[in-house]
Amino acid sequence: MFLKTMTVLVRNKRNSEGSGWLKKWEEYMHCAANECAVCGERLTKDQRNGAHVYKVHPDPQTGRYVASEEGKYYIVPLCKKHNNSENTEVMEVDEELLVEEEILRFAQNDKE
Ligand SMILES: [Zn+2]
Repeated sequence: MFLKTMTVLVRNKRNSEGSGWLKKWEEYMHCAANECAVCGERLTKDQRNGAHVYKVHPDPQTGRYVASEEGKYYIVPLCKKHNNSENTEVMEVDEELLVEEEILRFAQNDKE
């Protein structure tokens, strides 16, 4: 399992698009994305797609989870169960495993 150091709370982005994000994540991180960042389950070939997530925190007044950074999304390796836009659960992941979607988007453009 990934060693958890600083953890953050995240939620799946709805209607996330595209494929090949995990490959870009691996190139950027210089490491293989073999495990789900939430549960540690090994990722199989058909799961090789990075999840789009955003950081959340509980609103002090309502106790409901709200986005911490408006319009900012991250890519993180997640298993099929956790990488699912229908899954609205709040998940705890190692902050070091989050890579900004914008950074990877530009990484892609460089090669085209
Ligand atoms: Zn998982």
